[in-house]
Amino acid sequence: MRPLIIRVDPLDIDQQDIKEAAAAIRSGGLVAFPTETVYGLGANALDPEAVAGIFRVKKRPLDDPLIVHVSEDMDIGRFVSEVPENARRLMDKFWPGPLTVVIRKTELIPDIVTAGLENVALRMPSNPIARALIKLAGTPLAAPSANMFSKPSPTSPSHVISDLGDSIDVIVDGGDTDIGLESTVVGFDGEKVLILRPGGITVELIKNAVDSVSVCHGGLKAQESPGKYPRHYSPDARVVPIEMGTGQEIRTKHVADTLRNKGTRFGIMCVSERASLYKGYDVKVLGSEKDPEGCASRLYGVFREFDAENYEVIIAEAIPEHGLGLAIMNRIYKAAGPHSEATPDPA
Ligand code: AMP
Ligand code: MG
Repeated sequence: MRPLIIRVDPLDIDQQDIKEAAAAIRSGGLVAFPTETVYGLGANALDPEAVAGIFRVKKRPLDDPLIVHVSEDMDIGRFVSEVPENARRLMDKFWPGPLTVVIRKTELIPDIVTAGLENVALRMPSNPIARALIKLAGTPLAAPSANMFSKPSPTSPSHVISDLGDSIDVIVDGGDTDIGLESTVVGFDGEKVLILRPGGITVELIKNAVDSVSVCHGGLKAQESPGKYPRHYSPDARVVPIEMGTGQEIRTKHVADTLRNKGTRFGIMCVSERASLYKGYDVKVLGSEKDPEGCASRLYGVFREFDAENYEVIIAEAIPEHGLGLAIMNRIYKAAGPHSEATPDPA
């Protein structure tokens, strides 16, 4: 099956084009569409069979719950109950945008969406194409990233085509995504705000908006919220993170030289300010350390480039964990898999 590809200019949206995608959603189809974070694979969140299709084509395990995407004209009271005051505050402040809130669901949300959990993850995206699609479909969209499970999320339509091109109905092509990393996921313990996954809205911004915030222990490196898998967002190449701090250059070169001696094809991923340290090695630059937004938007594209060029190992230098740097490092550690920082010397 070849998907219908619909080109849409996010700055000049032709409603007629979006209508076809919305019709596919209403008839139970699967539609890839751009959000401000990454491309999503959407299905009618209220139709369990359509949602089952998402899990099937992504090969996503059924215990990994999906985020439900809503538009501003929807009464979210139909989908969630017992909304904490701080959830309201965060939604008022950051919606539409890359923030997902996990709240007690109503009966209307099928169990398959939440992997049987009592809470549902809800987000109102800001990308104009996503907003128009959800509105025209007239139903919330369950939408994980439009890639094969555990692979780097798609930040351009070509990534979607290469992962899922044979198995979905429609791709709405709105060009490259803006942020390039997934949304921030927050849960609530009473009024306490728990950061379950760092993402597009920084922890600093959330702390400015509400009082009681904690980044879940292991939120950066390990598995915490239900359905979060220890190895995720990962390229085919093995990712070896190199912690920041004294001797980072020496540690990076030690790993690089060990791999070179073994004949392993490897590359180094670092910020532009450090690229000149690694003359004579294959280097891909994420961006300037002064521009974490740029680094975030390029991360998954760089992972995919390493794969396309058949690298076996990516040596990934850590960057400061403030602002979007926290989400970037979370994805690098997830790509590396559990205990990655304990195995700097790849066997
Ligand atoms: P993705 O759609 O791949 O960006 O990932 C969605 C992630 O959101 C899941 O892997 C969970 O980590 C989180 N999530 C979604 N629904 C829930 C939920 N009901 N409770 C806790 N975490 C959730
Ligand atoms: Mg995903």
